[in-house]
Parts: sequence; C-alpha cells; structure tokens
Amino acid sequence: MSDQQSARNGRGVLGMPAGSSRAVSPRKVGSLYQTSTISALADGVYVGEATYGDLHRHGDFGLGTFNNLDGEMVGLDGVFYQLRSDGSVRIVQDDWNTPFAAVTFFEASTSVQLQSTSKAEVFDRLMQSIEVNLFTAIRIDGRFKRVVTRTVHEQRPPFPKFPDAASKEKKSMLADVEGTLAGYRTPIYAGNLNVPGFHLHFLSADRAVGGHVLDFEIDEAIAKLCPLHSLHVDFPRSGAFLKANLDSPDLARDISAAENS
Ligand code: ZN
Repeated sequence: MSDQQSARNGRGVLGMPAGSSRAVSPRKVGSLYQTSTISALADGVYVGEATYGDLHRHGDFGLGTFNNLDGEMVGLDGVFYQLRSDGSVRIVQDDWNTPFAAVTFFEASTSVQLQSTSKAEVFDRLMQSIEVNLFTAIRIDGRFKRVVTRTVHEQRPPFPKFPDAASKEKKSMLADVEGTLAGYRTPIYAGNLNVPGFHLHFLSADRAVGGHVLDFEIDEAIAKLCPLHSLHVDFPRSGAFLKANLDSPDLARDISAAENS
C-alpha cells in the first residue's frame, strides 16, 4: 500500500492516525540517528535547525543538547527531557531546536546485573559485552550511592568554545538516588562524530533532577545494552556548521576536556 493510499484509509504508515507528524518513517531498530557532530559542538556551533519533533521520528531514547546550549537532553521511553542548569526538568516540545542530538529506538539485547560498584568497574564490566567497533546504546536503571552531574547553562553570542562553556559549570552531587543513566559508548574511531567512549546522562526516577554524568557509584542496578549496526548523520545545511573549522587536531582534546571535566 502506498503512503497516499494509507493516508486515504485514515492511517499513517505506522498505523498511527494520518496527519500525525511522527508517523513518517518506519521504526528502525539498531540504528543510531544523529543531527550534526560533536566536533561542531566543540567548535562552538550551538544553533541547529533540527527539531525534537524530527528526532522523535528516529528514536525513543538518546541524548543531546539545545540551541544556545540551554541544558542537557535525555530521552527515555519516547519522552525527551530538558535538564537545565537551574536544576529544573521539563518535557521537550516538538518545535524546540537542537545543534546536536543522537537518538535510537532502544531494544536491549543483553543485560548485566550490577552491585556496589564504581564507574570504572561498571565500564570494564560493560566492555565485556560491548562490541568495541559498534556504537552501543546503554541504559542503567537502579539505585545509586552517588551521581555527579554537570549541566551547561544557556550561552549568548559570541559563543565560547565548548570546553570553556562547560568548564565554568558547577558540578552537583546527588546522594542515595534512584534513577536512570542513558547514553552511548561510541567507538574511538568515530570520535569526531560523537563523544568517543562512554557518554551518559542521568535522570532521577521522580524525573526531578539530572544532568551530564561525570561520575557515579552504583548501589544496585541493571544495565541494558543495545548494539547499533548503522549510523545516519544529518548535517546542517546552513549556518555556522558550514563555516566551522572542523579539521583542527585540537578538537579531540577539546571534546575530551569538555565531556569529562
Ligand atoms: Zn552530555
């Protein structure tokens, strides 16, 4: 049945009501979809054309940021949340834009039980189940002894480079908290496209606090892994991205400095 026929029948291609803005592309499991690149963000490209409505068509899980770096995004179970530097959490509207986000339809293929363990030990355990040359979506639900987060606050032009913007942010520590870590492990070879290694955002179970994760310690949790076999990048068609200097050898150092400190 063609899209036109299905639209005439009153149903979209996903069986959703015709006219729904999210009923356009088929649900593609095992594929990472991202808008722009982490190297562009590191170079100060903080304004994008992609909307979170677009991103809903490509995934129900993921992370990212917002235009002018107004906080961190975490997506869980089809709901995208904005985590802001003032500590507030709100649900992302479809017409909000982003300069960088990466989403997928999360379906776990492996789960790992975790107890009384540190970030370094968790990453070692997960690497035993992760294919080193694939992107992997990671979701860890449970109780945490502590989670250290950082949340960038809205920037004004002229924009500073990302390491300068991120390093000024204050860290906050959550103790004895239930919630979810969500994000990716990106192969090192893809480090100009996405954050190389592990990149996780946290959202508390009561959906009240969260941020970009710097450190954590697990009390009891279950980790689920979703291997990703394809990558689709939509590059910005206009604006600062086209003029950014993305060939600098300093970018890898900047990305690492911005994401880990
Ligand atoms: Zn982040």
